[in-house]
Amino acid sequence: MTAPAIARFIDAARERLGAKGVVTDPAEIAPWLTDWRGRWHGASSGILSPASTEEVAAIVRLAAQHRVPLVPQGGNTSMVGGATPPTDGAAVILSLRRMNRIRSVDDQRAVAEAGVILDHLHAAALAAGRRFPLTLGARGSCTVGGLVSTNAGGTQVLRFGTMRGLVAGVEAVLPDGSIHNGLGGLKKDNRGYSLDQLLIGAEGTLGIVTAAALRLVPAAFDRAVAWAGVAAPQAALTLLRRLQAETDRIEGFELIPGTSLDLVLAHISATRSPLAGRHAWHVLIEATAASAQQESSAALLEHLLAAPLADGLVEDATLAASEAQADAFWRLRDSLSEAERTAGPATQHDISVPIDVMPRFMIETANAAEARFPGTHASGFGHLGDGNIHFHVRAPVGAGSDWIEREGPVGAVRHQACARPARPDESRQAHRLSACNGFAPLS
Ligand SMILES: Cc1cc2nc3c(=O)[nH]c(=O)nc-3n(C[C@H](O)[C@H](O)[C@H](O)COP(=O)(O)OP(=O)(O)OC[C@H]3O[C@@H](n4cnc5c(N)ncnc54)[C@H](O)[C@@H]3O)c2cc1C
Repeated sequence: MTAPAIARFIDAARERLGAKGVVTDPAEIAPWLTDWRGRWHGASSGILSPASTEEVAAIVRLAAQHRVPLVPQGGNTSMVGGATPPTDGAAVILSLRRMNRIRSVDDQRAVAEAGVILDHLHAAALAAGRRFPLTLGARGSCTVGGLVSTNAGGTQVLRFGTMRGLVAGVEAVLPDGSIHNGLGGLKKDNRGYSLDQLLIGAEGTLGIVTAAALRLVPAAFDRAVAWAGVAAPQAALTLLRRLQAETDRIEGFELIPGTSLDLVLAHISATRSPLAGRHAWHVLIEATAASAQQESSAALLEHLLAAPLADGLVEDATLAASEAQADAFWRLRDSLSEAERTAGPATQHDISVPIDVMPRFMIETANAAEARFPGTHASGFGHLGDGNIHFHVRAPVGAGSDWIEREGPVGAVRHQACARPARPDESRQAHRLSACNGFAPLS
């Protein structure tokens, strides 16, 4: 694609969108050419920002006519470079951020346009006495379109599932410029394949998501957040199973290595460890109550943690004494990526394996990576309860930023561990289900 051909396309887009919908100033485009991790850098001579589904459809048709590739973009907070245009400058960014209307909210569902920021969706649901039960560290800037397109999970998957389970319908512009409207709200729809489900996690390859109908749940009546120290990931998993055997009110169960907490305390301002002593591993636990009729969440966590504390499964634990303290505990968890990014180069992968295999995967893979790449530090953190953790290998102290070029070989250690043959003590099913969701390209 030549520069004059792209310029002709952008001129045609300007006629359709008006000046407000087209950015060509390199300084304004620059922040959107690099991914959140600073790992990928692209090039593009324009950002198009339609304000309606019809405008998106018009741009898709024009792009097809002019044979210009489009790279859809929401908040640009994802971590695999999918929102970054290629380096040759041949593609134009299609930003959905101006499509930021919440079209409706009722007891069951919110219909939100693709550019609605997750925090804004939370606020709108809450104002209607409901809750959209998916949250993650990037909630202040990630968008509904990006969440749908990456099948995002976040910290509440344990109880409510990923976007795949929370999306009731999708509106999208398909590659021929036609509009698919799946917002109708049929609970059971037997008309064949579900295009809505195909669009979830498709990262823009099948169409541009312009709006989604999202399932809402009752607003939480209260919540309690606990922080516990444990000896190892297996102890954390045993704790989770014991809690789940007694209640279905656990929403968040996040595993945090002591070494990662150290990074947060060192690099993120105004943070302090919830526990006085040092622990090899930590878990952050959140429980909620739906109504005043239920035992308060604080009382629930207090009595559920008493036995594990008494028998030593949990080394120490504390309950947040206020909402501010609960937020402070979550801030420690949400700052892990930021702290690791500040600490230096690291390769990062999002790994899913069956939950019961996860503790062994974490320990064995960390040992294998550290043995193969001397001086590195490997560990995982995140959603143990979903069998999904962020597995990072940090560069040796003093390594330059070029160390990241080792992402391929280092990633291979993890991918081999994910895909390794089942041992006799693992079920066939567990092996078949093993999967790696690459947060970085496979080597
Ligand atoms: C601190 C932090 C914590 C995170 N924690 C989690 C977590 O716990 N769980 C989790 O799942 N993810 C997590 N993420 C990543 C998460 O997937 C993204 O933040 C979010 O889902 C992407 O939304 P976005 O609007 O920024 O999308 P972008 O980054 O802009 O785009 C993501 C992908 O979707 C495509 N896309 C965007 N909008 C559309 C659209 N309207 N139609 C079609 N394609 C589109 C893009 O081309 C790209 O391929 C985290 C990110 C950060 C920075």
